[in-house]
This record gives sequence, structure tokens and C-alpha cells, in this order.
Amino acid sequence: YLEVENVTKRFGDLVAVDDVSFSADEGEFLSLLGPSGCGKTTMLRMIAGLETPTAGEIRIRGETVTDQPPYERDIGMMFQHYALFPHKTVGENVGFPLKMRGVNKADRRKQVAEALEMVRLPDAIDRSPTELSGGQQQRVALARALVFEPDVLLLDEPLSALDRVLRQQMRVELERIQKEIGVTTVYVTHDQMEAFSLSDTVVVLDEGQLSQQGAPIDIYENPASEFVGDFIGQST
Ligand code: ATP
Repeated sequence: YLEVENVTKRFGDLVAVDDVSFSADEGEFLSLLGPSGCGKTTMLRMIAGLETPTAGEIRIRGETVTDQPPYERDIGMMFQHYALFPHKTVGENVGFPLKMRGVNKADRRKQVAEALEMVRLPDAIDRSPTELSGGQQQRVALARALVFEPDVLLLDEPLSALDRVLRQQMRVELERIQKEIGVTTVYVTHDQMEAFSLSDTVVVLDEGQLSQQGAPIDIYENPASEFVGDFIGQST
């Protein structure tokens, strides 16, 4: 469903992503896990179309998207600092991707209401995002990422700005929503507990290279290298 094949990204002399291949089935929750600087965000940005790979191919539903601009890919994104527009209402924020796709106002309103229902904020539609708590703003950002029913959902450390309690709540919410709508998800994190608790598959990256790929339990029981063992053994 999502295939990443021999993808490399260089910035000058630096190899940020080095010949990485992995794939996710439809509805799968896959995490890219590794320490800061291992290339997780760069990988995600290439799937989104915000960076072009130096080499390799990315396919979604069998179609090569490697050189397509972001707006031609059916991808929902939520980043840690993917800010909401403060001067627009919650409804306008969530409806923005639909507006960009030329969806008419009546259909927009309906789809926005459904998305807000899904993240359990049905009454927030006419409010300003600035009146909402951090956790609620994250829910709005998630509703915006999902409102056009994307093929793939990309999440880059979406919970890291939240405090511990909210983080735990959002993790549970995220899991519920992802299973409910069955959207193929790529989740970037440096937090092994988060990756292990949420994912069907974990891809461990180390200095741009893929160290190990597998189900959480397999990686936990049989780390492929000292790096993986050390990394998943540590707690944050
Ligand atoms: P973090 O969790 O700290 O964001 P990461 O695993 O997501 O780390 P990347 O952000 O993908 O890592 O960065 C991988 C490497 O590529 C780093 O050494 C980074 O400095 C470098 N890099 C990323 N983007 C660029 C860019 N636009 N120009 C030059 N170097 C870059």
C-alpha cells in the first residue's frame, strides 16, 4: 500500500537517509523510531513530498509518487509544530484542506462536523483555536489531517509538546481513531514506548540506515544489533 524502496537523501556531503526500504499494508500503523538526527523527519518529508529523494522510489497504492508535489498526494499530516491558523475558527481550520481541494461549502461543513465528532470536539466548530487547551488544539490538528480521508496519515512527534497526562490521553485517542478509520499511518518518534504501544510495525533507524524492521514484540525479544538493543532498552 505504501512502499519505500531504496530511498536515499543527501544534503551536500551528509547522507540523511541511506538506502532505506520498508512497506506498510493498508490500515497498518508503522513507526519510524530512532534517536535525534537519524533521518526520521527527512523520511517523512519525502513521503509527504516536501523533500525529493536523491535516489529511490516511493509508491502509494501502487502509484509512483516520488516526484509528485505534496498537493497531488492524498496525505494527511500532523506535525508537532503544525500550527493552526489563530485568526480562523476551528471549523475553518479543519475545513482548510477541503477548501484547497475545491469542495463546496455545504459539503465542507458536513465533513468538518464529522471530523470534529471523531476527535470528540463537536461543539468547537465556531470557536477560536486560541481558546482551546493544548490537547484540544492537537485534536483539531488531527481532525484537519483526516478530514479529506487521506490514503496515508503522517505524524511527526505529534504528542511531544504535550505534558505527560495529556500525552497518555492523546495516545489512547490516536489509537482509537486510527483503528476506527483504518488509515495507513506512519508515525515518527524517538520514544520507544510510544512506538511499541501504538504500532503494528516498527522501523528502527540509525544514522540514516535501517537497523531493524518488525513487530514490536520481535524487536523487543530479538534486537538485531547492539544499537537496537541499547536504544529500546533505554527509557525517556
Ligand atoms: P530529530 O528528531 O532531531 O528531528 P530526525 O531523526 O528527524 O531528528 P532529520 O531531521 O531527518 O532527523 O535529520 C537527519 C540529518 O539530516 C541531520 O543530520 C540533519 O541535520 C540533516 N538535515 C535535515 N534536513 C536538512 C536540510 N534541509 N539541510 C541540511 N541538512 C539537513
